[in-house]
Amino acid sequence: MNNYDVIVVGAGPAGLLAAGRAAERGCRVLLLEKMRQEGRKLLITGKGRCNITNDAPIGEFITHVFPNGRFLRNAFSNFFSRDIIGLLQRYGVESTLERGGRYFPASNSSADVLQGLLSWVKELKVEIRCGYRVEKLIVEDQIIQGLRANGELFYTRNIILATGGKSYPATGSNGEGYELARTAGHTINRVMPALVPLETEGSIAQKLQGLNLKNVQAVVWSNGKKMGEDFGEMIFTHFGLSGPIILTLSRIVVEELHKKNQVEVTIDLKPALDDQKLDNRLIRDLNEHGKKKLGNIFQFWLPASMVPVFIELLEIDPEKECHQVSAKERKQILHLLKNFRFKISHHRSFKEAIITAGGVATDEISPKTMESKLVKGLFFAGEMIDLDAETGGYNLQIAYSTGWLAGNSCVTG
Ligand SMILES: Cc1cc2nc3c(=O)[nH]c(=O)nc-3n(C[C@H](O)[C@H](O)[C@H](O)COP(=O)(O)OP(=O)(O)OC[C@H]3O[C@@H](n4cnc5c(N)ncnc54)[C@H](O)[C@@H]3O)c2cc1C
Repeated sequence: MNNYDVIVVGAGPAGLLAAGRAAERGCRVLLLEKMRQEGRKLLITGKGRCNITNDAPIGEFITHVFPNGRFLRNAFSNFFSRDIIGLLQRYGVESTLERGGRYFPASNSSADVLQGLLSWVKELKVEIRCGYRVEKLIVEDQIIQGLRANGELFYTRNIILATGGKSYPATGSNGEGYELARTAGHTINRVMPALVPLETEGSIAQKLQGLNLKNVQAVVWSNGKKMGEDFGEMIFTHFGLSGPIILTLSRIVVEELHKKNQVEVTIDLKPALDDQKLDNRLIRDLNEHGKKKLGNIFQFWLPASMVPVFIELLEIDPEKECHQVSAKERKQILHLLKNFRFKISHHRSFKEAIITAGGVATDEISPKTMESKLVKGLFFAGEMIDLDAETGGYNLQIAYSTGWLAGNSCVTG
């Protein structure tokens, strides 16, 4: 009886949507998951809250996807954010809309999202086998025949590979799905960690570890050339820089580090004030507090834990009274406030990357169906495809939409 209309490999969000949609169409579906439990990664999304999706319209949504968001137009027009929100609602998971168009479960629990999807596929009689690792695809004359999992053979004319990327390998997605795709003849574009924290040279970040900065502007420089910028929140860690704007910019940084370029990140701590306005503010404060020691007025400009680090970097005597600060020294202070500079030595590894960039080349997949252009009956869904997006719920929507489309496109009978 190891004969199925459709076999889905990987029970993450992409695999669950693929299996559910194929079953909805009346297919006999087997879902194989190598871990003992489905959706391990889904459970840790959004720090356990799961940023389900984003309410941006398709045209805007695809601008947040790399390297080719247009590939997803058809998948999104078939199944989009309102559809996943509606599906979850039918299974008792209400959503709330937060800043930046981000949807979260009203319960703030990713476990509820997983439970909602599992209830759906179980109601549709998808057969789920956890603890089954797919080792090999069986392909004859460029047509899918079946696969081998845990040494057992399974037969089918439709396989949907939804094995995820390579990041957070402890959740099960360790990149082995790329090998399955490769053996079927597919090109795997260079796989790199994305949305990943950055390591810095020196000990400055370390001295500031735990400090969270809001409303700052970070700029990435490669060999002295400005490559990108972002405004918002970041945090210093024991190894360097992290937090939302750093993760967003990490895509550029990883790329430039791989080219062996010199990469720096500068942080503008006062982005609301241009140089002239900031200089006026410094002049005013230095005049108003002329008799105070310079070291005592930095707290007007910086969070307290940054003050000793700034004093160390500036090499200006903090015992000096404010009225003694020269114009040159004031310019130095201004420059540091606008250009707090870090040399980037490395990016963190896949273990800490939210998403994997690279993967199965999209020009070998039909955007209309998610079917391989090389092997009949082989489909791809989710993070294993060479698509990745910024934070904001975009990555999960890619998984649902490509999964749904693959499940909708399998041909049976
Ligand atoms: C810490 C963290 C937080 C995140 N937060 C968010 C968020 O809030 N919002 C958002 O949009 N995105 C978020 N993401 C990204 C999101 O989790 C992924 O984009 C999404 O899980 C990809 O879904 P997928 O189904 O393609 O792959 P996965 O969820 O990785 O699932 C793939 C499954 O395939 C299984 N598998 C692999 N190989 C085999 C094999 N050979 N045989 C059988 N099974 C196999 C794996 O065990 C795994 O269960 C986050 C990621 C991380 C790491």
